[in-house]
Amino acid sequence: MGSSFKIGRAFGIDVKVHWTFFLLLLVFGYFAYQRSGSLASALVTVGLIVALFVFVLLHEFGHSLVAQRLGIEIPDITLLPLGGLARMKTLPEKPADEVKIAIAGPLVNVALAVIFFVLAYLFGAGLPNYRGVPSGPISVGEILAYFALTNVVLAVFNMIPAFPMDGGRVLRGLLATRMGTVRATDVSAAVGQAFAFLFVVFGITSGQFLLVLIAIFIFFGAGGEAQMMRQRETMRGLSVSDVMGTRRRTETVTPWHTFGQVLDSVIHGYQEDFPVVDENGKLVGMITRNEILAAAHSPDRFSTVRDLMKTDFPTISPGADLFKDGQRLLQESGLRAIPVVDENGELAGMLTIEDIGQASLLRDFRQQSGF
Ligand SMILES: [Zn+2]
Repeated sequence: MGSSFKIGRAFGIDVKVHWTFFLLLLVFGYFAYQRSGSLASALVTVGLIVALFVFVLLHEFGHSLVAQRLGIEIPDITLLPLGGLARMKTLPEKPADEVKIAIAGPLVNVALAVIFFVLAYLFGAGLPNYRGVPSGPISVGEILAYFALTNVVLAVFNMIPAFPMDGGRVLRGLLATRMGTVRATDVSAAVGQAFAFLFVVFGITSGQFLLVLIAIFIFFGAGGEAQMMRQRETMRGLSVSDVMGTRRRTETVTPWHTFGQVLDSVIHGYQEDFPVVDENGKLVGMITRNEILAAAHSPDRFSTVRDLMKTDFPTISPGADLFKDGQRLLQESGLRAIPVVDENGELAGMLTIEDIGQASLLRDFRQQSGF
């Protein structure tokens, strides 16, 4: 976030404030001074807004600490006039994790509300009526009651089921366990935009223009979130079977082929590494270009595949994640190709370095064009 000042650091997270936040304090302080003509009441107003943002900050720490426990790195939290933003290095993979992270923020406000209501009660204050930010002179009990109410509002407001509100994320997380992330995002983005529309109508008819502003913020937040999610899913969704050479396009050899026959295939075909399959279609070995070329110049050229093939090599399932599993396995094994084997132990195809290369070219292209 550009033009933000670092004001502190806690739990390994930088706390930053966007410059427009100071503008917000100035504007509210100015109007409070205009209305009351007293510097003290202007300072009370500014103090209460600062307190509001302390609660927002604690709310963001609620998200952040749960995210950290789930293995997600949080470099910083930025306070903006419209709320806080905890930046995550990576997004939660599991829908259940997203729900936990999203709900942790509002839960902090629920806890704070309870504490402040009890304190306000002890200081003899009743429930305040919420008519905007109060300006001085006010009692300690009134301040505590105001803090309690502020936290109730923060919890309720954030649980509105609309992106980028926490409620929207909770809704998506819950839906995603049933219908998959992409569809869950589309559904909850639609719900969010419907809420935004209601806010605009209500805001205009009641003259609450702040609500209209928030609605616009939600409307674009919902659309942006849905698009980002779709992009992430198209790439993450790639599995080995999406790019592998299928069984029909994979030339195989049997253990009883002679070496000369394999050499012939290497010279006359496009394939360099061959799965070795027995009469039942079961994968029993693998013979790679390196072994074939080495044998070509040795007395081994008269032996059978069974004598030359590798029997110790990794295999991968068709449903495995292409980049997370496929690419890693290829890199770790140092092989140029690995056989893809289905749950029955039968050969489903071959995954090669070239397959990965083409898929990552496509990925980079899509990311650059902001698809
Ligand atoms: Zn939140």
